[in-house]
Amino acid sequence: MIKGIIFDFGFTLFHFINPSVERYYECYKNGLEKSIEILKEKQIWNENLSPESFFEEFIKRRQNFFKESIKTKTEFPTSMIFKSVLESLGEEKIVSNLEHIDENTYDKLAELYHSCEEDEWKPFEKTRQTLETLTEMKLKLALISNHPNHKTIKNMLKRHDLAKFFNPIMTSAKHGKRKPDPSIFFYTIEKMGLKNQNNSIIMCGDEYADIIGAQRANIQSILLERKYKFPFEKEINVENLRKISIISEILDYIY
Ligand SMILES: [Mg+2]
Repeated sequence: MIKGIIFDFGFTLFHFINPSVERYYECYKNGLEKSIEILKEKQIWNENLSPESFFEEFIKRRQNFFKESIKTKTEFPTSMIFKSVLESLGEEKIVSNLEHIDENTYDKLAELYHSCEEDEWKPFEKTRQTLETLTEMKLKLALISNHPNHKTIKNMLKRHDLAKFFNPIMTSAKHGKRKPDPSIFFYTIEKMGLKNQNNSIIMCGDEYADIIGAQRANIQSILLERKYKFPFEKEINVENLRKISIISEILDYIY
């Protein structure tokens, strides 16, 4: 008997309007522009520093951390990337007064960086209804997202009044490891108050990390097949992989 379902966030419950590399880039650039305002308020920003060179430095460092996170499955939160960029600019005396900035400010910078994303991700048409039905069936629901800023995922769920369906809401930023590392699954299952017995838990997601992570954690999985592929996407070689094309079809697998 199924007792719990863990959902992925992006392209499983929510979709990004018109996804493209350019759109993502533009989105983050807007976020960085907003974060510069805070740095100016706190007298950290130096007028000799151009926003473009700050973007470049930030994006370069983010890419390096991202490569590392793919290799090691460790998440490097966006707040930490801000810290790392600003500290190295501080050492070179390109920014100053870094003592004006505390952990809360780094969190705020990260939230602003991802803020444009919050406008772009929307729940699929059937998301709410599916979650309501599963909740009425007394199933425990949780969410695991590979995202470098926990607050962004929470904000998006709250904005659409969907946070109430999940306990816990887990992100790689909060946990420290990314899917497919099984530890994030084990931790989430424990927080759900469930034991992984008798195939009673299903992971539903759209990516390799979701399905392979579920396999490593020894729980069931269902792939939500996206209508388009991402660049460099890993092939999922799992026998008898169960697939759905819209989220509400998961109800066919509840027994
Ligand atoms: Mg996804």
